[in-house]
Amino acid sequence: DSSNARVLSIQSHVVSGYVGNRSAVFPLQVLGFDVDVVNTVQLSNHSGYPSTKGISLNENGLQDLYDGLRANNLIRHTHLLSGFVRSKALLEKIAHVATELKRLNPDLIYVCDPVMGDYGKMYVPVEMLETYKSTVLPLADIITPNQFEAELLTGMTIRTEKDALDAIDKLHTEYAVPVVIISSSDLGNEEVLIGFGSCIRGHTRKQFRMTIPKLPADFRGTGDLFAALVLAWVAKTGDVQQACELAISTLQAVLKRTLSFYNKNCSDPKPCWRHLDIRLIQSRHDIENPDKFSTTYCS
Ligand code: ATP
Ligand code: MG
Ligand code: MG
Repeated sequence: DSSNARVLSIQSHVVSGYVGNRSAVFPLQVLGFDVDVVNTVQLSNHSGYPSTKGISLNENGLQDLYDGLRANNLIRHTHLLSGFVRSKALLEKIAHVATELKRLNPDLIYVCDPVMGDYGKMYVPVEMLETYKSTVLPLADIITPNQFEAELLTGMTIRTEKDALDAIDKLHTEYAVPVVIISSSDLGNEEVLIGFGSCIRGHTRKQFRMTIPKLPADFRGTGDLFAALVLAWVAKTGDVQQACELAISTLQAVLKRTLSFYNKNCSDPKPCWRHLDIRLIQSRHDIENPDKFSTTYCS
């Protein structure tokens, strides 16, 4: 149920466009969650554009905000969501906040999107990997790495479905993360992306695969939207597989709308980011009432 749910979302902010908190907060609100928002950076636009201007929050800034909330008795979160962070010290501070929130509410669910890179390239400082492994993952209840991030966290290469499931098992056992979701991998073909979900409850383990129709564009903010939707639907349904199905369904609707907007409005031959910003606001009905999307069990 979301009626008493309050999420603390610690992610990036862009003035224009929809990545980080701008991609995560609106859908959470549409789905009935109160969201307290901390911006790790405030940037003009996402980093795919030719230039980006803005400012960062440092670890003292986060501590200040936390102290302010605490002083006014405003720490009453049911969920923590973290995404893009580009400093090791700030990430360590987020782990500290996660520990505090869990001390104050032992039922708090921490959804950690370990944003580090994509397609074989890291876009945060390499020393952050160690902090994720040693400090952050052990606090997380749900993690949503993409394939590259799952490979970084495990030191394994994912070339087959068995590799993906082995990497997931390693994340379950080494870091005691109960729910691991690989949001996408290149194990599909021209037509589909393949994602995986896995939950451990007691001695039972459930693993499923998501076969996601691939749309021919390079979107930004999709991973952030995915993590927020997973948080929301796990809270509402109590079922990770169903939550992923609903999340993928909304993403398909958002991205189809985005692509058709792009095709109608962009006459540039090069990818024109301005027209590829996800059509999130226009998709509010697809956020509230996603169609059914099916996933399959891994045997
Ligand atoms: P981001 O770069 O936005 O952080 P990510 O690499 O963290 O993304 P992805 O796994 O690439 O996360 O995307 C998250 C979800 O968004 C996928 O599970 C998929 O449902 C959807 N998605 C992203 N790109 C596409 C695409 N080109 N076609 C179809 N679905 C996509
Ligand atoms: Mg990706
Ligand atoms: Mg991501």
